[in-house]
Amino acid sequence: MKSNSRQCRCGRLRQVEGFDSLLQFNEFKAELARALRDGALKEVPVAQRTSSLEQGERWLACNCGETWRLVGPRFPFRGIFRRVVEGTEV
Ligand SMILES: [Zn+2]
Repeated sequence: MKSNSRQCRCGRLRQVEGFDSLLQFNEFKAELARALRDGALKEVPVAQRTSSLEQGERWLACNCGETWRLVGPRFPFRGIFRRVVEGTEV
């Protein structure tokens, strides 16, 4: 994805449909934690939970206005990281 004039973290983020391993998820979380420390991402309240995937859902807002949802893996569910569009999933 190409980002335009405003520098933001989205260009470096990619959607994840299932983490390959807990290690990959932990590395991903560490990257998000860095972005949160930098101020590139900000944790926001979860406005609309993914009904069946409630455990540990977090929403992270980028400084460009995009919001991303993170749901950690919980067997057999492998977790997701997706852009939130108008309070719904893509
Ligand atoms: Zn962004």
